[in-house]
Amino acid sequence: MPRKPRRRSVLLCPQCGSANVTLIAGSIVGQVYRCRRCDYVGSLILETDLPEDGTPPKNP
Ligand SMILES: [Zn+2]
Repeated sequence: MPRKPRRRSVLLCPQCGSANVTLIAGSIVGQVYRCRRCDYVGSLILETDLPEDGTPPKNP
């Protein structure tokens, strides 16, 4: 059985940086996302991988 990747990814709004982004399915041009915080809608989105514990990486 294939093992599931343990990394989780989070989508971030490129406009306000919020993670409150939802994927709008069914677009003919591809994936379209919508930010519920600033109402950004578009296919450009930031995606960041999270470690297993869900905490963001620390910057030294
Ligand atoms: Zn936003």
